[in-house]
Amino acid sequence: MAITLPVLRIGYEVSWEIYPSLAIVSINALVEIAAMVLYAYLVGRTSAQTRDLQKRVATKELEISRLRTFAKNTSATLQGRGLSPGLAEGVVLIHLPPENEWTSSHQAIAQDDVKAEITRLERALAATIRELDNTQKQFATDMAAAESALLDVQLVMLNDVGFWGKCKRRVREDLIKAEQAIAEEVREMATMLEELEQDSMRERSADIRDVGRRVLRSIRTSGEVPPNPLLSLPSNTILVGKDLLPSDVMQSDRANLVALVTECGGPASHVAILARSRNIPAVSDIKNASLLMATGDRLLVDGEAGSVTVAPNKVQVASFAARRGQYIAPESAAAQRQAQKTATKDGVHIELYANIGRTDEAHLVLEYQLEGVGLYRSEFLFLGVERPPDLETQFAAYSAVARILDPCPVVIRTMDLGGEKIPRFARPENDLALRTGRRGLAYALAERKMFRTQLQAILRAAQGGDLRIMFPMVIGVADLMEARHLLDEVMETEQLAKRPSIGAMIETPAAVLHIQEIVKRVDFVSIGTNDLAHFILATDRQSQESPGVLSFLHPGVLRATDQVVQAALKQGVGLTVCGEAAGNPEGVCLLVGMGVRVLSMDPFRAARVRQVLHQLTLEQMETAFRDALGVTTPEDVRQIAASALCGTEV
Ligand code: PEP
Ligand code: MG
Repeated sequence: MAITLPVLRIGYEVSWEIYPSLAIVSINALVEIAAMVLYAYLVGRTSAQTRDLQKRVATKELEISRLRTFAKNTSATLQGRGLSPGLAEGVVLIHLPPENEWTSSHQAIAQDDVKAEITRLERALAATIRELDNTQKQFATDMAAAESALLDVQLVMLNDVGFWGKCKRRVREDLIKAEQAIAEEVREMATMLEELEQDSMRERSADIRDVGRRVLRSIRTSGEVPPNPLLSLPSNTILVGKDLLPSDVMQSDRANLVALVTECGGPASHVAILARSRNIPAVSDIKNASLLMATGDRLLVDGEAGSVTVAPNKVQVASFAARRGQYIAPESAAAQRQAQKTATKDGVHIELYANIGRTDEAHLVLEYQLEGVGLYRSEFLFLGVERPPDLETQFAAYSAVARILDPCPVVIRTMDLGGEKIPRFARPENDLALRTGRRGLAYALAERKMFRTQLQAILRAAQGGDLRIMFPMVIGVADLMEARHLLDEVMETEQLAKRPSIGAMIETPAAVLHIQEIVKRVDFVSIGTNDLAHFILATDRQSQESPGVLSFLHPGVLRATDQVVQAALKQGVGLTVCGEAAGNPEGVCLLVGMGVRVLSMDPFRAARVRQVLHQLTLEQMETAFRDALGVTTPEDVRQIAASALCGTEV
């Protein structure tokens, strides 16, 4: 618009001066009218678009406020992922980074100002390093190893000459202010790391943003680091954010911070590690947490179950308080490091393995003294990327876990895609597997080329450490055998000598019905109680109020699990349980009573599971399971498990 009208105007006036004839006058009049019409059209269109946008924003805001009211009025319990165990009751403080944190308005500088800008940058950098050094000295005595390690990482980043050199180059070459140069460089680097999902670097982008934020805060306040508002919090604060940064936790008021709730962030993030080292319950994966809750809301946080209850009612508060009264925090991983093998009170050895989703979570196996990885969810390599990971990327990921944990076993589950796990690169219109609603192994068999590449990568990596292969969502003998044949074919073309152990995940009712045939064709089975329970009970796993681990206590699920356990024991094949029930005290009691001796879980649940097992005899657990088989309601099963656990410190 700004260009169109002057151009028309110039054309009109020039022609008027050159040809002041009547004919030209009418042409000019026409041009004038056309310009006005065009102007009216463009203005009309722009304001229609603005109105439309405003309407959409208003509708979204209304939707959010309705959802918020709904969550509060119904005292909704939202299901996420527990990152640090413990129970907390408190008041929400929404903590979001300022909207313009990474956008610095463009302010060009003159060539003569470059030196002064670079000096500003260097001063801010020096002030930030001093601040971190002081924090490290100040808290040296009571700082946990995790916190000290985090400060070390950040100090290394602050001393990274290459990174800050790039910021200075931006100032020099683009003639921009130091804050703009830092914001742009940090944004670029953080985005690059976030996109490297398959490279296990995502969590490090939070560290880069954290360091960048510290320096920006210092530069914006001319070398002085302003006090952090989190340093002093109201009592019983629960910090809620989209994605908290490590420094948010490090610097926040220890005495008054009782829990953390985020929309994203995994167990290997520094935020999760800090929370565990400070015994602060933490839950992630609460969708739209910062919109559904508001500062001042009351909240119950269960870091074990990975759930939060918004504006709880009296009954919820009372039963939560009763649980908290009996709750004893599990010994820290460090304290358990000296512990002897995991065993029941009467000495029956139970093997504990880790469920992990990414290579950098492998160190949790060592942190929690586990015996290996019982479930590596390889599909995370495929989600959130523009194209399927190639052979080299996958080989690097699988062999890195095998190398880190060698000689411990690592079970790689082949891509479990479909359902709620749709890769960004998949196009429903031309993807047969998606159009036909296939999931797990069926999806992989339909996307054969991609599946073959994955098998190649796993098989090559398996020639080194103790890698094992497991197929998800097996539904019978036909799909299992088709996958096995494909695997044999790849072994032959690749001329590989070592065939890894092959397992089937039992998590569909169809697989339970075929269990006698399946156990004859695999080296091991692993029961996925999460999906098995949802398929048997016809519940929606995605629902935010999903009963989660409790659905395992339904007698129908218990009986189906028992069928699988007995078939595997009779056949003498390996048997593991890797669903959430394997990391939950009631679930563990019933599973061990059923005959399971290998449990695979979120690593930080291991401390609690060990504690439970040390206090119960095998006979107590067998009795509980036998009693549970005789009842017909989930409440009865829960009662039986609860009374078996009664008196133990859980
Ligand atoms: C399960 O279904 O129990 C399981 C372990 O797999 P996932 O949770 O990844 O679906
Ligand atoms: Mg599953």
